[in-house]
Amino acid sequence: MAQPKNAMEIFKLLDQSNCRECGQKTCLAFAGAVFRGQIKLEECPKLDRETIERFSGEAKKEHTVEEIQEAYMNDLKAKISDLDLDETAQRTGGRVSNNKLTLQVLGKNFSVDPKGHLYTDIHINLWVAVPFLTYVLYGKGIPVSGNWVSFRELKDGKEEHPLFQRRCEEPMKRIADTYTDLFDDMVHILSGKKVEEQFESDISVVLYPLPKVPIMVCYWLPEDGLESSLHVFFDKTADENLGTSAVFTLGVGLSQMFAKLALRHGVSEHP
Ligand code: SF4
Repeated sequence: MAQPKNAMEIFKLLDQSNCRECGQKTCLAFAGAVFRGQIKLEECPKLDRETIERFSGEAKKEHTVEEIQEAYMNDLKAKISDLDLDETAQRTGGRVSNNKLTLQVLGKNFSVDPKGHLYTDIHINLWVAVPFLTYVLYGKGIPVSGNWVSFRELKDGKEEHPLFQRRCEEPMKRIADTYTDLFDDMVHILSGKKVEEQFESDISVVLYPLPKVPIMVCYWLPEDGLESSLHVFFDKTADENLGTSAVFTLGVGLSQMFAKLALRHGVSEHP
């Protein structure tokens, strides 16, 4: 009986349709749960008997979300060699030079070569690198609509919305509450644009983490006994230009990036 060495080996056996018939939200989540021994491979109805018998070993080693993300990132990198770089540049809003595809990520060059090697001046955070590669491989390249929607309005976003609030919007709000330069840093360091306040917020800043996936961060100051609030909005094309799972990952990555900015200026993320 073959023993899967990691969750990615299990993921590669699946049809990767994210159909949810197994009760998991994605095939990647299913692979992670099988690898941690929480569910059995045969719970995916799309696998044939022969594959199930070949790989139904006891997988006991615990893997962190980051390890699974890293394995997933390596799988994405391996697929870059299949791309036509010129077509991809046109679809993604990038450019090709020296056999590398380069996109603007938060105002900085972020490049990938056909072997999947990444080149950038900014720190390569897994939570940003995975959306970058997903966008390059699977983004549909639809023109940005200019209509802002919340995470819950994206395809399949409703179910993940509470988790998105906990992992992205709430940490961002805590940073914004104590680090008043956050929005200026978004503009000056991350090449964001302050825009006319949206949804009656006090501050609205648009960032470009990927050329066709703008995000808008809106902040409401405390008022009349009400506490402050912060919400993140996406163009309504984000689920097609990136995919809702990768939008989630990107949101978490940005909130970690903001925490680093705040810490660099001597302000604690957790007041
Ligand atoms: S049933 Fe299989 S193919 Fe469908 S989401 Fe689950 S693991 Fe993926």
